Amino acid sequence: MVEVDIPRPIKVRLAGGDTAVIVVDMQNDFAHPSGKLFVPNARETIPACSKLLEKARAAGCRIFYTQDWHGRDDPEFAIWGEHAVGGTWGAEIVDELKPMPSDVVIKKLRYDGFYGTPLEHLLRLAGVNNLVICGTLANICVLHTAGSAALRWWRIYVPVDTISALTDFDYKAALRQITFLYRGVLTSVDLLELGS
Ligand code: ZN
Repeated sequence: MVEVDIPRPIKVRLAGGDTAVIVVDMQNDFAHPSGKLFVPNARETIPACSKLLEKARAAGCRIFYTQDWHGRDDPEFAIWGEHAVGGTWGAEIVDELKPMPSDVVIKKLRYDGFYGTPLEHLLRLAGVNNLVICGTLANICVLHTAGSAALRWWRIYVPVDTISALTDFDYKAALRQITFLYRGVLTSVDLLELGS
């Protein structure tokens, strides 16, 4: 097995008004045991994601969710099987992390939360420089959304206890790409301080 050199999570302090949180695809089909593409580790990150959201709301961060949202005959189903069909229970955000009315929910078509969505426009309007990204899957939608954000020069922070993948390799590969390629910073919910 290849050993991957990944930086340790570090203490980070960010101003709430300059920071948005993006919760990636924490939907029933991925994070609920009855979901069509259940990721057991995603379920285990729900308490950490919930704590992150609590801290973020208290600090006045803007909160965005992405929601995988497919049509009935989406070509992605050839890769993954049917999942996150728009309007179904599986596409809903899990009950434990339900968005608040002031949050923004972005329905997305592919792995990248920016592709074909108003996410970039809305983040620019929010005027934030820092993005804290959590959710699932680490090596798919989290990685592509983090990468897409970094290509647009947002500063990326990922609490390692809030993302999940199907295998340890996938998880570590995502952390490697986020840090090495996109210069994202790894932290944890407890090491992340969100203030005024
Ligand atoms: Zn999908």
